[in-house]
Amino acid sequence: MTGKVYLIGAGPGDYKLLTLKGKECLEEADVIIYDRLANEDYLRISSSTCECINVGKASSNHTMPQDKINELLAAKAKEGKVVVRLKGGDPYVFGRGGEEGEYLFDRGIPFEVIPGVTSAIGGLCYAGIPITHRECASSFHVITGHLKDGSKDEINWEALASLKGTLVFLMGISNLKKITENLLGAGKVKETPVGLVSWATRYNQSVVIGTLENIYEKALEKGIKPPTMIVIGEVVNLREKLNFFEEKPLFGKQIVVTRTRKQSSQLMEMINDLGGRAIEFPTIEITPIKENTRLKVAIEHLKQYTYLVFTSPNAVEVFFEALEASGKDARVLAHLKIAVIGEATKKALKQKGIVADRMPTKAVAESLADCLKKELTNKDYILLPDSAIAREGLVSSLEAVCKVDEIPLYTTVPVRNVAKGEMSSKELVERLIADEIDYMTFTSSSTVHHLIGRIGQEHIAALAHAKLISIGEITTHTLKTYGLEVYKEAKKATMTDLVDCMEEK
Ligand code: SAH
Repeated sequence: MTGKVYLIGAGPGDYKLLTLKGKECLEEADVIIYDRLANEDYLRISSSTCECINVGKASSNHTMPQDKINELLAAKAKEGKVVVRLKGGDPYVFGRGGEEGEYLFDRGIPFEVIPGVTSAIGGLCYAGIPITHRECASSFHVITGHLKDGSKDEINWEALASLKGTLVFLMGISNLKKITENLLGAGKVKETPVGLVSWATRYNQSVVIGTLENIYEKALEKGIKPPTMIVIGEVVNLREKLNFFEEKPLFGKQIVVTRTRKQSSQLMEMINDLGGRAIEFPTIEITPIKENTRLKVAIEHLKQYTYLVFTSPNAVEVFFEALEASGKDARVLAHLKIAVIGEATKKALKQKGIVADRMPTKAVAESLADCLKKELTNKDYILLPDSAIAREGLVSSLEAVCKVDEIPLYTTVPVRNVAKGEMSSKELVERLIADEIDYMTFTSSSTVHHLIGRIGQEHIAALAHAKLISIGEITTHTLKTYGLEVYKEAKKATMTDLVDCMEEK
């Protein structure tokens, strides 16, 4: 059976500038064949068994020739696979999507094309440049700057120079001199504003502004490299007012997130939305304890307890999974007072439809013990399902008042493998030393221990190159025991407070 090929536009780079249709196909793909300009974070959407093939490695000698890409698409589809061809921007804007579609059509292979946000429009938008404007640009023209020799014939410079609309050249930075000279030679005014927009919509977007007369000199001075768009026209001046993206609080910042893969998405999303680049470097994985007999027994005898305490969102998740597995639901908890540590735990519980009765102001175990001690009597019996490596402080201080049944639910194990789109520990160390990482976030002591486990004790000093952000006092203490300086500690143990530490107001 023949599979199907989806030619998908990945947009210009910002993770969320992908269509819902595109996302859906990535989730279902058996194979993803992607280019250099497609954001690699999209590979994380794919299933664990999906094969990801990079056909456009940064050094151009690794780029797969187009005829080989066509053959690869057809071969994989003939194996009955769902094939995604992921391209930067829109597949039909200088993306050779048309050629690929024709090739598949000629071989009777089913395909679909999913448009994307082209850099020529969306990329300019993030640079604060609208491609048209009622006052100064009533048309736009997107032109390839990849000029063949004797390009004079290919492009009608006189026609272009006489147009009032916006001119956008893609793939043109290495021909910038030729482009400006040809336009000036054809009579375009030398004061015409020009913008060079590199890595548009990404944390490292950069923009150089000049005129048709001086932009080439400026580009040389700044050492501008691809991917860069050249935009020519009055609309460039609007950037002064419309530059919303570079004003974002984390714009330009690279931030490493060390949580589990499952938990990191919220923090990563917040960082990306604030204009920064979140780099996933998971250090721990949560593994629920299998055949947890003690938990099963506790769930069968919930009536004996008076309190239920959750110390982490993981505990909530695993406990409710077990509850469901035993054929019960939240109603069996109705008689219990429920206490939580931390906003995130409270939220996880809320998602199960339960409002926590108690939450101490400080998200540490000792603080919960203090808060509960006032109301507990020796008749109470607390069920405390938590991590197998929980600290003992909470149990012993509660046990001083009443009976506590502490049941380990899960263990945190160190991450060993590097998943798709993730950085290896060697690369992380290199980038830290090169001062390319601005912040590293730590959301628990175990993220600290296991991060150091992953990079190796000998590389601890590399961490001093980044600003280290801690979720709370215990994590801070752990960082300090490794001789590391903590830049800031979150006011409260929430992702919002963690992100606040990075916004230099
Ligand atoms: N199909 C793509 C364009 C492919 S041609 C699209 O619709 O956007 C590749 C050229 O596009 C690059 O040389 C550069 O000029 C431009 N380009 C693509 N993405 C870009 C980005 N994020 N920032 C700046 N230029 C970009």
